[in-house]
Amino acid sequence: MQATIRVFVNGREMENPEAPPVQCNGRLYVPARQLLQRLGARVRVETARACVAVDPQTSKTTIVAGRREGRHGPLLAAAERVVEAAGGRMDWDAELGVFIAQRRETWVAKRSLAIDAGHGGRDTGSTTAAGLAEKDLNLAIAHRLQKLVQMAGGRAVLTRSRDHHRVMAERLRRVRSRGVDALISIHHNSHADTSLSGCEAYFFESDAGRRLAFCLQDEVAQELGLPDRGVREAGFDELRHGAIGAVCKLAFLSNPKDAAVVASPYYPLQAALALFRGWRRFCEGL
Ligand SMILES: [Zn+2]
Repeated sequence: MQATIRVFVNGREMENPEAPPVQCNGRLYVPARQLLQRLGARVRVETARACVAVDPQTSKTTIVAGRREGRHGPLLAAAERVVEAAGGRMDWDAELGVFIAQRRETWVAKRSLAIDAGHGGRDTGSTTAAGLAEKDLNLAIAHRLQKLVQMAGGRAVLTRSRDHHRVMAERLRRVRSRGVDALISIHHNSHADTSLSGCEAYFFESDAGRRLAFCLQDEVAQELGLPDRGVREAGFDELRHGAIGAVCKLAFLSNPKDAAVVASPYYPLQAALALFRGWRRFCEGL
């Protein structure tokens, strides 16, 4: 039996797809009308076997051919055709069974973001009782977040892109040399008191940084369903680079409930989606 394919559009899971996407001969088919509309395109004409889509950004008209499940079922068309017709970008993760479609986000596209995956190499950060290392979680989330920002038309650079140790001064040099608008640093918490649970965000000496931290914290707490421990000010080295910045500590790896959340195969994507939506909210408010 084929596992359910989860669909994420514009940074959120699509809760009521007209029809679940299906895989056929190695291609992915998605409900055409609904997805085109979510991505900002108009469906002008629809017949039994195709629809005519218009991308209002470019006025480009595309005939998207597909097929129906039953006479009155929704038109299913190849995912890449649908997304291309709307001028969007897509990512299909076959291993996880996740389809991601993203429209161009005007405000995100104007900004560039540095993403800092905390720790790396011999510096593992904290670990869960089951042995999941913070450095690996941070990096997996950073990669997902970079992709989401790029799909939305924005620029995103990583302070480290693989599992190696990089000192803070070197990270910050990268941030400064790339001329980014802001930095999001990804971390997890740990404490001897294993009852501590939830997410926190930090900023330092900057109103814009405070706003960024609030936008991120709000989305993360909602998405992960963990206690919201609030936004605080702290002079972390990550925040001493001159640009706007926030440090997000997403969960307590020392807490059994938090550790179960981060052990889900969907967790890096979930966390990245929340950070992406927070970044988008921050950009829209600038
Ligand atoms: Zn850390």
